[in-house]
Amino acid sequence: MFELSEKAQALREQVLAFMDEHVYPNEHLHHEQIANAENRWAPTAILEELKGKAKAAGLWNLFLPESDYGAGLTNFEYAHLCEIMGRSHMAPEVFNCSAPDTGNMETIARYGSPEQQKQWLEPLLAGEIRSCFSMTEPAVASSDATNISCEIRRDGDEYVINGRKWWSSGAMTTTCKIAIVMGKTDAGAEKHKQQSMILVPLDTPGVKIIRPLTVFGYDHAPHGHAEIEYDNVRVPASNMLLGEGRGFEIAQGRLGPGRIHHCMRTIGVAERALEAMCQRVNEREAFGKPLAQFDSIRKDIARSRLEIEQCRLLTLKAAHMMDTVGNKVARQEIAMIKVAAPSMALKILDRAIQVHGATGVCQDTFLAAAWAQVRTLRLADGPDEVHLDSIAKLELRNYPQTHARSH
Ligand SMILES: Cc1cc2nc3c(=O)[nH]c(=O)nc-3n(C[C@H](O)[C@H](O)[C@H](O)COP(=O)(O)OP(=O)(O)OC[C@H]3O[C@@H](n4cnc5c(N)ncnc54)[C@H](O)[C@@H]3O)c2cc1C
Repeated sequence: MFELSEKAQALREQVLAFMDEHVYPNEHLHHEQIANAENRWAPTAILEELKGKAKAAGLWNLFLPESDYGAGLTNFEYAHLCEIMGRSHMAPEVFNCSAPDTGNMETIARYGSPEQQKQWLEPLLAGEIRSCFSMTEPAVASSDATNISCEIRRDGDEYVINGRKWWSSGAMTTTCKIAIVMGKTDAGAEKHKQQSMILVPLDTPGVKIIRPLTVFGYDHAPHGHAEIEYDNVRVPASNMLLGEGRGFEIAQGRLGPGRIHHCMRTIGVAERALEAMCQRVNEREAFGKPLAQFDSIRKDIARSRLEIEQCRLLTLKAAHMMDTVGNKVARQEIAMIKVAAPSMALKILDRAIQVHGATGVCQDTFLAAAWAQVRTLRLADGPDEVHLDSIAKLELRNYPQTHARSH
């Protein structure tokens, strides 16, 4: 289970070297370019430059297992690369491996028609455009996707879309051209057959970007999270993905890999936080000795190391199962790591912030922004409670229900 193929090992080394040479040294410049940009939603010059370099080096579209398009890595192999990319907030996009585009590309690759693939998948794979996923709605509890109420109504050769969405990540960026919108095509159908997914070009009349949302004050420019109104938006009927009523089927296929990618990246964040913590406590002295000599701090370091290792192993197990027995059988492992990894990383980031003192909460380290980002993963792609419920349901299935109901 632990052996990486030669191909994945070689890619891993290349990604590591690329991060050292090009990504970490330019993180600050990326921020500066956003801060000084005329339009903070335009991709930065440095990001575009690094994308070109990564593409030229063959470090591009490393996700997409079982596909003609990507690097053809298994989930297990990709986990080793994705973790490294997760260490820097800008790195996943540099390698064209960032959310939500990876999930969207995977969706169009798996469920899109050849025409949809030509029009949208090819430019996405080339990194020329970006995409967003518009499912969550402000008016309903969206962790229960059956609540989604955006209307997708057939009218001749077109569909007409009406609804308000928010947290459409990536939609603010000027290069975001296409949304995958989830909505209801038949409110009278069986519960899980009411929903569909449809491709909506963002320049279609009636698509109104209402506002960017902030995460603990961060706007995550140039990516952003948009509130969007779809007001009588008309698209050709051929924009429907897979067919009416198949939205849940697509959502299940899309979210498994998306969730584990978040976990892989989160382990990278935690690993970098632990590194920052160790460097800091070796350098900083208080009360006559380096912080590294205080017992409470040593225990925090030790706990952090063991918690990272636990989560990495569970991530790799889930990835391995996805490769060998499929996403459906692996769903308990995927749910488990989706709960475990963000909470683990938050704890480690919090400890790293603590040993940095006030430096830890300001812009001088990556820690504060990373904490804010990782905190959202306890909500995004399903809140913890929903995954815990699925884990319990699967666990309880192994036991007969012996008590008769009293009512
Ligand atoms: C940074 C960020 C990026 C996002 N990106 C996207 C995106 O690109 N596209 C998109 O469509 N959405 C996106 N989302 C939205 C995200 O997926 C939703 O916020 C999430 O699904 C929860 O839905 P909700 O906010 O409506 O919370 P609600 O459904 O209102 O739930 C609120 C709370 O209720 C509790 N709860 C819910 N169900 C249960 C249960 N079964 N048992 C116990 N408690 C429960 C949980 O504590 C939950 O947090 C993003 C969110 C964030 C913060």
